[in-house]
Amino acid sequence: MNWRVPLADLDYGEDESRAVLDVLKSRWLSMGGVTQEFESQFAHAVGARHALAVSNATVALHLACLALGIGPGDEVIVPSLTFVATANAVLYTGADVRFADIAGPDDLTISVAAIRACINPRTKAIIIMHYAGYPSQIPEIQKIAIEHHLSIIEDAAHAPGAEMNGRFLGTWGEVGCFSFFANKNLSTGEGGMLVTNRDDIAERAGKLRSHGMTSLTWDRHRGHAYSYDVVDLGYNYRIDEIRSALGLVQLGKLKASNVRRGEIVRQYRLGLEDCGVDLPFADPSGTPAFHLFPILLPEGFERRIFMDRMREEGIQTSIHYPPVHQFSYYQSRYPGVNLPVTEAVAAREVTLPLYPAMTEENIDTVLASVRKSLV
Ligand SMILES: *Cc1c(COP(=O)(O)O)cnc(C)c1O
Repeated sequence: MNWRVPLADLDYGEDESRAVLDVLKSRWLSMGGVTQEFESQFAHAVGARHALAVSNATVALHLACLALGIGPGDEVIVPSLTFVATANAVLYTGADVRFADIAGPDDLTISVAAIRACINPRTKAIIIMHYAGYPSQIPEIQKIAIEHHLSIIEDAAHAPGAEMNGRFLGTWGEVGCFSFFANKNLSTGEGGMLVTNRDDIAERAGKLRSHGMTSLTWDRHRGHAYSYDVVDLGYNYRIDEIRSALGLVQLGKLKASNVRRGEIVRQYRLGLEDCGVDLPFADPSGTPAFHLFPILLPEGFERRIFMDRMREEGIQTSIHYPPVHQFSYYQSRYPGVNLPVTEAVAAREVTLPLYPAMTEENIDTVLASVRKSLV
């Protein structure tokens, strides 16, 4: 399909090509100096003490759970209006998830009251997901976490560079997890980052990222180690130098591209006033990362028809998200979960194109197509 306006588009240029070629010429392909530089610049950019680059955000979430000691018998509270990886990462450890509803049609992040209602003696942690790059209600959730001795993991896949009260998202909880998947604000194809201010978590996650080994090929290459021991059951969750090189270039563009995304969102909001759709996050706190632009169709409007009409106009749209608790696997594992707000909102949600390189013409085309598709 040749879209007039795709849902997302890469912001890649000469710098990315050069960075990749430099790595190829260096003849060192897996985790090494470029990855260390990416980690150190990313940690600095979000104000975290530690940053560990990994294969993707799903494994960052898995490592976060493992490093916090989450396992069989434990429960982790998660939103259902998220990508399935948020919940899967918990199940990998042998722990269970407990789904919490979202706050409402204006705030699509996890509800504080719902979190409270989910807490029981098995609860170990809460995963919050900053939907579309808008901050969850972190201060209130932190209060609950302190009160009940729970950890907070931030699924910040949508939120690189977003901040609230002068603090970057991903650095509020014990661990923050970022995704560099192809359609995210910072893209390396596949890739992710785990950030934490806790030395013990960084140490544990760092070992588990590489088979629980006490030294890496890179250390031995540089003569820093002679052999190694394996002290834990770890994984190969490493990133490679090619992706880290792409990540470094993309990190340099992140601030400007998030600003551009914000401008597009402002234009969208103005252009969609009074056309019958609801626009969540009317008055967000902090500085969002504007990863997605979700709209809620009028109640009862057939979403399929709207999306088909948009497709006929050459506009790619998407759904964020089919709720996790409604997937077959999750329904059979956790039958009878009832999340009225998530279900009502998710059924009306459609995501419009949003990427920094959108032109004024692209924006106008989308706005006109939305109005046309709603009649
Ligand atoms: C993209 C995404 C993930 C998974 O990221 P990967 O890097 O593809 O593993 C997790 N959670 C959310 C909310 C996402 O959007």
